Amino acid sequence: MPSNQELFERAARSIPGGVNSPVRAFGSVGGTPRFIARAQGPYIHDAEGTRYIDYIGSWGPAILGHAHPEVIRAVQEAAVNGLSFGAPTEAEIDIAEALIRRIPSIEQVRLVSSGTEATMSAIRLARGFTGRSKIVKFEGCYHGHADSLLVKAGSGLLTFGNPTSAGVPPEFVAHTLVLEYNNLDAVAQAFEQHGNEIACIIVEPFAGNMNLVKAAPGFLEGLRELCTRHGAVLVFDEVMTGLRVGPQGVQGLTGVTPDLTTLAKIIGGGMPVGAFGGRADIMARIAPVGDVYQAGTLSGNPVAVAAGLTTLRLLEAPGFYEQLAIQTRKLTDGLQARAQAAGVPFCADAVGGMFGLYFRDSIPTRYAEVSQCDTQAFNRFFHGMLDHGVHFAPSAFEAGFVSATHDDGVIQHTLDAAEDVFETVRAG
Ligand code: PMP
Repeated sequence: MPSNQELFERAARSIPGGVNSPVRAFGSVGGTPRFIARAQGPYIHDAEGTRYIDYIGSWGPAILGHAHPEVIRAVQEAAVNGLSFGAPTEAEIDIAEALIRRIPSIEQVRLVSSGTEATMSAIRLARGFTGRSKIVKFEGCYHGHADSLLVKAGSGLLTFGNPTSAGVPPEFVAHTLVLEYNNLDAVAQAFEQHGNEIACIIVEPFAGNMNLVKAAPGFLEGLRELCTRHGAVLVFDEVMTGLRVGPQGVQGLTGVTPDLTTLAKIIGGGMPVGAFGGRADIMARIAPVGDVYQAGTLSGNPVAVAAGLTTLRLLEAPGFYEQLAIQTRKLTDGLQARAQAAGVPFCADAVGGMFGLYFRDSIPTRYAEVSQCDTQAFNRFFHGMLDHGVHFAPSAFEAGFVSATHDDGVIQHTLDAAEDVFETVRAG
């Protein structure tokens, strides 16, 4: 049986960095990534046969637990009928209708194969619809790796972004305005200066890519009001939060309805699916009815849609989200109590089946505060928990995810491990 280390070395010879997506490489925590052989419920098993409680959940999709038998059966049944047709299917209508029923802003929806495609397409659509070029995004929010979105602010409130990746020409991000999350004054100021040039605001309505950072009361309402007043499109990127924080995403929790919404992760049940949808008059601009081009060979793939539809149906079980939120709170409250007992500066937050762990004294509200977290303490915590068979995301800046299979025994195992590990975190 090859070890994780042997696999990592072999992988690095054929795959850049040994991984197909950067954060998997343990770059910020150090050490060897676990190569996963199989997963079941709350557990992942690595190539060495070691079992871990998993709080990554494929970065969100595994809300029912890994390899849910009904989802697996749906995939098997769909696969027998053919893997891809490049022609429409009835199941695509079913999932479109299922999303329209659940997500308040969605009147029409188009399927794609990833979150990146969903946000990239939503922004093209917003630009096509408004005839404007500029877009507003927020520091610490991630919307996939499309060129115009790989931007971080310089200093100051109204700085046009610089690319944060090589290979993105400055001209490609010249229209991307990066503002501070939860800072409505900055957005108001941006609209004062550029109001009739801004096509859209794209925002993670609760951010999950700078750890978990919730929108402050009034922030989303303020974005809604400014977009309406200035004729800009409000895009909620609910790739992570949709179907994760509750059955209707953050828009259901807050009552703030965007013009467009992007989804992925859970709606594919672990298979590659993304979607963007929203107001029918905006969606009418998409090809083939409209003049905004967007397409995909595997969009609406029948096997992926089968996994997604089955997942959406199982999420409708009575009390599903209530129970998920209870288990998630047991985890975060329990971790907080144990950190406090050990004298480690730490706090935690949760919404639905999503949580944030912060090695600092208070819950952050923006990127500048998140970046003050003690990453050394996090790294000791991460590796200590891994040694105890608990796998958190390998970065202090990622959110965590609980599934319906994280029962009391699983949470208790995690908390017992944390009791030991926080002692070593404090000892440094
Ligand atoms: N938007 C958000 C909010 C995300 O969290 C992610 C991925 N973590 C994306 C977009 C990009 O999705 P994908 O990785 O499927 O391209």
